[in-house]
Amino acid sequence: MNAVQLVSRDIGKAMAVQTRVIDYMTGFFVEKGFKWLLPVMLSSITDPLWPDPAASKMRAPEIEAYGSKLKLMHSMILHKQFAVSMGLDKIFILSPNIRLEEKDRDDGRHAYEFTQLDFEIAHASMDDVMGLIEELIVGLFKEAKSWEEVDRPLPKAKRPFKRFTLEEIKEEFGDEDEASKVMEEPFWITDISREFYDREDSERPGHFRNYDLILPEGYGEVSSGGEREWQYEVIIRKLKEGGLSPEAFKPYLEVAKAGLLKPTAGAGIGVERLVRYMVGAKHIAEVQPFPRIPGVPAVI
Ligand code: AMP
Ligand code: MG
Repeated sequence: MNAVQLVSRDIGKAMAVQTRVIDYMTGFFVEKGFKWLLPVMLSSITDPLWPDPAASKMRAPEIEAYGSKLKLMHSMILHKQFAVSMGLDKIFILSPNIRLEEKDRDDGRHAYEFTQLDFEIAHASMDDVMGLIEELIVGLFKEAKSWEEVDRPLPKAKRPFKRFTLEEIKEEFGDEDEASKVMEEPFWITDISREFYDREDSERPGHFRNYDLILPEGYGEVSSGGEREWQYEVIIRKLKEGGLSPEAFKPYLEVAKAGLLKPTAGAGIGVERLVRYMVGAKHIAEVQPFPRIPGVPAVI
């Protein structure tokens, strides 16, 4: 595709739905008393995205500014925890993320530049956050019935959504993608061994208090979240277990060591993935005016 073909595409329907989706979601969080933070795009530390069974190994690109090396943000997870430490108990951000995924990630739902609606709540449990996301999704799908741009049936999505552990998904369906194809409503996958900041169940070591929301019809994951670790010793142990250097998370560890991280829980919802599902687009590029597809050179 060249620049002329790119600007000649019809992206009107997707952008109309995106406008309504962002309007609905931001309104939802404002209404519930969340503070709306502006995104951070550069920082000395960011989400390692590792170890995570769903992530391909990648490095955050860096720029040099005023004597420090700053990374382009993979996600704002660590900054969300800092923000709660600042006394902001309920926050959300429309956070642009850069993730240079492996080439083989061109599966229709991965882009290397995308935006997530990222939120975090002090002292919340996984049930609190899962309940909140269910309320948001059920309300959004109901609202979307009256939007003329959404010209396909969305699932009824009754609460509570079905929950499976990752172990159960493997036993019952083989894998997450297969489950997404078979299921007819959004569902949860819980207990996933991944990045150090997702909380391990202290009563059941080796199990994790985290969750992914999966869309049906093969659309796959649309949200990931978890309760978070906040204790310095636990964080250090898990960083090392994941093969990560504590040195790379210096300011984060300083705050943790000072006892300033709080127990929190939250999640991020992929905006483009949600819009792609609601308009029924085959590929995420169809809902990005300027597609950023792993392995494909950007046109503009
Ligand atoms: P994560 O916590 O890494 O799972 O990211 C939160 C959400 O952002 C995911 O559930 C997706 O909806 C979205 N997301 C993550 N990576 C990508 C990507 N490469 N392209 C598009 N959306 C993404
Ligand atoms: Mg995820």
